Amino acid sequence: MQKSAKRTLWELTAGQRTRYAAAIGAMAVGTVFLLLVAYVLQRALDTLATGEASLADTLIPAGVAIVAAHALNGLFTYLRGRWAAQASEGIVRQLRHRLYEHLERLPCDYHDHVDTGDLVQRCSSDVETVRVFLASQVVEIARVGLFVVVAIPIMLMQDLRMTLVSACVLPVLVLFAVMFFRKVRSAFQDVDEAEGRLTTVLQENLTGIRVVRAFGRQEFEMDKFLERNGEFRDLEFRLFHILANFWTLSDVLVFLQIGLALIGGAYFVMRGELTIGQWVLFFWLVRTIIWPVRHIGRVLADSGKATVAIGRIQEVLNEDAESEEDLPEMPVRGAIAVRNLSFAYRDCQTALDKLSLTINEGETVALLGPPGAGKSTLVNLLVRLYDYDEGTIHIGGRELRSLNRDAVRDAFGMVLQDPFLYSRTVRENVVIGKSTAAEHEVEESARAADVHENIVEFQDGYETLVGERGVTLSGGQRQRLAIARALLKQPTFLVLDDSLSAVDTKTEAQILRALASRRGKQTTILIAHRLSSTRPADRIFVLDHGRLIQQGTHEELLAADGPYGRLWSIQGTLEDEIERDLWGAVDA
Ligand code: ADP
Repeated sequence: MQKSAKRTLWELTAGQRTRYAAAIGAMAVGTVFLLLVAYVLQRALDTLATGEASLADTLIPAGVAIVAAHALNGLFTYLRGRWAAQASEGIVRQLRHRLYEHLERLPCDYHDHVDTGDLVQRCSSDVETVRVFLASQVVEIARVGLFVVVAIPIMLMQDLRMTLVSACVLPVLVLFAVMFFRKVRSAFQDVDEAEGRLTTVLQENLTGIRVVRAFGRQEFEMDKFLERNGEFRDLEFRLFHILANFWTLSDVLVFLQIGLALIGGAYFVMRGELTIGQWVLFFWLVRTIIWPVRHIGRVLADSGKATVAIGRIQEVLNEDAESEEDLPEMPVRGAIAVRNLSFAYRDCQTALDKLSLTINEGETVALLGPPGAGKSTLVNLLVRLYDYDEGTIHIGGRELRSLNRDAVRDAFGMVLQDPFLYSRTVRENVVIGKSTAAEHEVEESARAADVHENIVEFQDGYETLVGERGVTLSGGQRQRLAIARALLKQPTFLVLDDSLSAVDTKTEAQILRALASRRGKQTTILIAHRLSSTRPADRIFVLDHGRLIQQGTHEELLAADGPYGRLWSIQGTLEDEIERDLWGAVDA
């Protein structure tokens, strides 16, 4: 269901509404105390003017009252800040939680087409904009509203003409501020966008620093950065210039209003139409409310940004997540039968074209073909990362779409070409698929994946941190760690997506031997570019342009006149020596 941004925000405030209301209440009480000072001043001065009380009798209680009122205003301002911060943090925590949970459930199809940088910005700076809006801007708008709503009636009760004189510039100031910030919104936006472009250049450079160095592109990249940096500086300058004009012009209006209250008040006092106390009351009220009123244009403009931010967050939340399924979580096992399967990624050419093949239970098969042949796509569909419309896939005789998605994914263990490792310990990275694994099981899998020896050589062994704050692993080590992870899980279906590309032939042989020991117990799908990697397979499927062009055992394929045989004769001569070694090791 598509929801509006306001509705989402309202739902998120559930549980924090009382605290939020308390924050606004504290703000109101604090404001009233501040305005009360005006009354105290007026009473004290007017009493003095009558000469009925002594200076000490008047000024001491008034002084104490003024200090007390300011102290109480301070206390309630503190409470307002504290409660508003707690409430907004609570709301924003919920918002982040909902966003993250939703992102986890959005289909791969969505992630393929969205710019990750943009998504990160929505989850970080847009959420921050909403937080600031809730924590300070809403309360500030309410405060200015209250100032005006309380101060004007107090003034009116004293004197109508003096009220007109003391408040006549206020509407002009508000109008000027609001119109000004509406007009310069594009200047703020330009600065934001320029900052985004600057960050992108920086990010690209840091990510691709090796490529930049290797191709000697430092000068070029530096120029690009300088250009963006200059553009950002110019736009910021322009914005500061505009803002300086605003603050100066609005200062003129502010002092005009204060001046009017002073001079107008003096005039009425001289004519005996206003007491000195009233004069000071007007002056005090005008002076107290005018500065926040001047600032309101800025606050309203920033709140406009919050509306945009909430809208952008809502766009993500409105994307359809993978449907919730009510399918029983039965174990998924058996032969995989693919019939006439066709598939294309969104707005792309056909990736699979009427593909039909059968993988028997416990069989080890290899999918061989040039890059882009559709090998990974087939596996993506098997684990239900994408939904297909044409053709069928059955596992154990049951149509894949009638099987629980989580149960299907649980049955598969995948080792991807460039495996993803978390910035956690080696152990945590291995036990991801089976958190209950015992010590010896973890070690056995690491040995089978030929990575145990490497791990024990790290300073903290299995407790060594991986990633930026820990050890940097080589491509081969990463692959072997991922293989250990998959082996530990002992999945019904093991998929190795070109997972041995970064390990040497000897290690490859050792891993293949470990796999061979599980032969028959586990269905294994090897995605291969190198012929040597297809060697342990019972059968080989040769794919090209999303179609199955050959299938059979190694011997059958060699005997047939086709792409496999041709590839064999080319690669066979190239890798003759290596292949012989490897085969010897596997057969041993
Ligand atoms: P292989 O694994 O054999 O190298 P793939 O299954 O990755 O091939 O790719 C098959 C085709 O689908 C290719 O044309 C590729 O460009 C395209 N493709 C793969 N992944 C995506 C994706 N996420 N979005 C769009 N097109 C894709």
